[in-house]
Amino acid sequence: MFKIFKIYRWKEQAKFKLADPNRKISDEYFRVLKNQSKGNCVSCGVGKIKSYVIDKDKNITKTIIKFSCGHAHTEVLVEEILKLRESVKALLVPEGKGKRNFVIQHIQGWFKSNNPNLKDGVLKDQIIDRRNDKYKEKVVNASNKKEIIKDQEHSLSEHQGYGSAKFKK
Ligand SMILES: [Zn+2]
Repeated sequence: MFKIFKIYRWKEQAKFKLADPNRKISDEYFRVLKNQSKGNCVSCGVGKIKSYVIDKDKNITKTIIKFSCGHAHTEVLVEEILKLRESVKALLVPEGKGKRNFVIQHIQGWFKSNNPNLKDGVLKDQIIDRRNDKYKEKVVNASNKKEIIKDQEHSLSEHQGYGSAKFKK
């Protein structure tokens, strides 16, 4: 099971992203990650974690973090288990909004492929980041990870089907 949104992991995750030299981080997201890595409020950077609730219902884990400044931050993790192979869909949803209003959607794991050359399926890592207007997708052969099937990164506005026009700010 993926428990990446537990609080200690929540901070570690930010540190890990900040330390990754291959990751392109916008100034705004850098500030968010810096605050997150210190356990500070992601909105203002001043508040400290006051309380958090991890609400697990079947395959949906909702983490609500409340900060001393009064801001709150909600993360929703949707876990989908596919037979023996696992994949996970994590959604970052603003407080009080529905899943369709996600800020970041991260899909990672194993998927079946219709391509007869990919009988073992593929490993996919896809990020739709509306906060930074970024679409990133990497797909590799599950039986040979060196075989890259797709590797792309561009702005969401350039990406058909996930256009930023659909996202109400
Ligand atoms: Zn705050």
